[in-house]
Amino acid sequence: MAKESRALRILVIAPHPDDDLIGCGGSMAMHLEKGNEVFVIYVTNGDAACQQFPPDEFTKIRKEETLNAGRCLGLKVENLFFLDEQPWRINEEKTRFELLDLIRQIRPDVCYIPHSSDAHLDHRATHRAALEAINMAPSKWFRQYGSTVEEPFSISIILAYEVWAALMTPNYFEDITLFLEKKMQALREHKTQATAKYEQAYRGMNAFRGAMHEEGREGVFSEAFQIIKIVEIFH
Ligand SMILES: [Zn+2]
Repeated sequence: MAKESRALRILVIAPHPDDDLIGCGGSMAMHLEKGNEVFVIYVTNGDAACQQFPPDEFTKIRKEETLNAGRCLGLKVENLFFLDEQPWRINEEKTRFELLDLIRQIRPDVCYIPHSSDAHLDHRATHRAALEAINMAPSKWFRQYGSTVEEPFSISIILAYEVWAALMTPNYFEDITLFLEKKMQALREHKTQATAKYEQAYRGMNAFRGAMHEEGREGVFSEAFQIIKIVEIFH
């Protein structure tokens, strides 16, 4: 991680409400315990997933669930941002520049984004828009889109997380054993989404990653990532 002892600023970019927790909720809880500041940007409102409510009503319910889940994990409500794109029809160009503006406000040290080969279309679109925005944000260019960079900043770590499809070659693992129950508790706040079947899948994935990549240790749960960028491994 970055060598400064100051609190890090962590940004998670999620295609749908709850992807942040599924992909890296344990890591988010770990960052919060370390005193790091955690921000989340939700790209879509997630309303396509439900048949039982009218879309407007369901959008409100999903937002309330997301705020409750965030509070449960320990996130500050003012650190949660909603772009309100429609699932399955993300406007990538609009999203890229909305992300650019927010990234310039947040000035993160570390970013978590979905991986490029996730099985869900919205995750792949979010990956592309997020990675472009992250690469553009610290630059003095792109002033014409409404935001500028007053003070230079650098995003030193970018990690890609897994949700609907496992990473083929993950190369970074976070031991989240101590934070697993908090992650599951927060996920259960997404009441319209939470089922025993899904919880089993999330626990199972973290158990698999822990068992396969924590040699010699029993009962470890891990989140797996692909490193997209890391600055200064040796210092
Ligand atoms: Zn999703």
